[in-house]
Amino acid sequence: MRYIGAHVSASGGVENAPVNAHKLGANAFALFTKNQRRWQAKPLTEENINNFKQRCAQYGFAPEQILPHDSYLINLGHPEAEPLQRSRDAFIDEMQRCEQLGLTLLNFHPGSHLKKISEQDCLARIAESINLALDATVGVTAVIENTAGQGSNLGHRFEHLAAIIDQVEDKTRVGVCLDTCHTFAAGYDLSSFEAAAETFAQFDHIVGFNYLKAMHLNGSKSVLGSRVDRHHSLNQGEIGTELFQFLMTHPATIGIPMVLETIDDTIWAEEINWLRGLQQA
Ligand SMILES: [Zn+2]
Ligand SMILES: [Zn+2]
Repeated sequence: MRYIGAHVSASGGVENAPVNAHKLGANAFALFTKNQRRWQAKPLTEENINNFKQRCAQYGFAPEQILPHDSYLINLGHPEAEPLQRSRDAFIDEMQRCEQLGLTLLNFHPGSHLKKISEQDCLARIAESINLALDATVGVTAVIENTAGQGSNLGHRFEHLAAIIDQVEDKTRVGVCLDTCHTFAAGYDLSSFEAAAETFAQFDHIVGFNYLKAMHLNGSKSVLGSRVDRHHSLNQGEIGTELFQFLMTHPATIGIPMVLETIDDTIWAEEINWLRGLQQA
């Protein structure tokens, strides 16, 4: 079974996310469990938690179909001690919110060296941040999202993902989310069936499909190798549509949440439906 959905709004409370996903005809969804642009958040209430769980059960969303995304402020590879600590604390809080909601995945961007430390040092800090968070929680897998490589963000090379995983102690609780826009912007061609197959073969060789825990399905406004992160709708932009045919028939995409972060939420239901249809291709 392929799980296909979108990053839906949780405004008014996390318990609204499964309802919003259900309205799209989705069988997967992503959400922020707190405001993604702020450090502080009110703790989840008993009511939030119970309603979220009840509605997920009602609409048929199991934890493996749900992909929470952490705050954009967190930098787990921060070069300076104090902001690094703040990021680590906030990340553990995010993991704990997932625990409370009975969720098993947390998607996050690896981090940035801010041109103050080497890539290697930054990757080691990210891995150590993950180790600390896994020690402080149970049952939640840290899912590293690959990036477009904008600014000093790491995670745009498959080797970065492999280097982080290599330094994570509990390999059963670390994985990767491949974002199609980020992959393409980072310089991995996805613009034809053959190019996508070659990129996926590279991913399998360097990281391994066993670590592929989720995907973000996006078109790209930016060109191949631009290292600029600009999402587009699936049937628009530079990647084209063959990629999605490739993905919807690839065995590695079975059983993982695949989530749209495309720019026009009024066509999400259509996009989900179109992706579903490609599975027969
Ligand atoms: Zn992301
Ligand atoms: Zn993404």
